[in-house]
Amino acid sequence: MGEFDLIDRFFKRPARRADLGIGDDCALLSPRPGHQLALSTDMLVEGRHFLNTVHPARLGHKSLAVNLSDLAACGAEPRAFLLSLSMPRADETWLQGFSQGLLALADAHSCELIGGDTTQGPLNISITVIGDVAHGQALLRSGAQAGDDIYVSGTLGDARLALEAFRGTLGLPEAVFELCRQRMEQPSPRVALGMALRGIATAAADISDGLLGDLKHILSQSKLGAQLQVSACEQLLACRGDVALSEQWLRTCVLSGGDDYELVFTAPVTRRDAVLAAAHASATAVTRIGCITAEPTLLLLDAAGQPLANQFASFDHFAQD
Ligand code: ADP
Ligand code: MG
Repeated sequence: MGEFDLIDRFFKRPARRADLGIGDDCALLSPRPGHQLALSTDMLVEGRHFLNTVHPARLGHKSLAVNLSDLAACGAEPRAFLLSLSMPRADETWLQGFSQGLLALADAHSCELIGGDTTQGPLNISITVIGDVAHGQALLRSGAQAGDDIYVSGTLGDARLALEAFRGTLGLPEAVFELCRQRMEQPSPRVALGMALRGIATAAADISDGLLGDLKHILSQSKLGAQLQVSACEQLLACRGDVALSEQWLRTCVLSGGDDYELVFTAPVTRRDAVLAAAHASATAVTRIGCITAEPTLLLLDAAGQPLANQFASFDHFAQD
């Protein structure tokens, strides 16, 4: 199977939303009047972002999911994506699974594969997503205001638990491991929630490197601080009732776990009903976990309102260099 057979067989489909899809030197896409394009790219490297034990369909799903999560954080609507794929050989079984997982998620979000590049090399998947958002409506990291509530969507920390189980640091009961593994390998990008929060949230980011690290991006770009209720965050581990974890592990997973692909966002206290309506409309749970402060520090509070030491590092690819 040659390079172009491979593209035709596993990736090429008739263009629907794009003006011109796979097969020419460029794809063509018409911006909707009054909208801005939202562009983002994310690369997945074997051993760094995924383990070689992952099922190819799940890897296909995750490769697009982490990109859609960036669009979600901006409140943008997905339009199309480009796929750059480097792989050691054209393994048909692998390509079948990968493309099926990838394109199923793409269809679920009406996000069309319009082009890419295919080369031989170490397994490496790079996707660029294109979305759009009405002019001036994008959610940014810089918009938080002192006094705003801080919310997080869905659940936190389960992907990290799965990673620790794979590493052998923690033992998990089989059913818990499966749930955590699913969260790690098939995250749900919160696209509908992000779109529903336009005009309500003042700032948003997606949580890829851990809650605290990604919240800090909002704080530094908004030049503000926050008080975070750690006990509220501890409730967000999906499997919390089914696994006995030390307090330290529980906090590490929910506060700095990584690979959650949830949204952390801020909204005025006066918009609490609107936030709940957006959550309801997008069928996504949201939890209020703290508030934005004028004092530019991040304070972690325990259930009694006492400050906790923050020894939770977020993920940084070059932290040791
Ligand atoms: P060449 O390198 O000869 O210019 P291209 O890289 O342009 O060939 O590939 C031919 C067509 O296939 C282009 O439209 C390109 O966007 C598309 N394409 C290549 N690889 C992929 C891929 N992995 N997924 C989707 N489209 C792809
Ligand atoms: Mg090329």
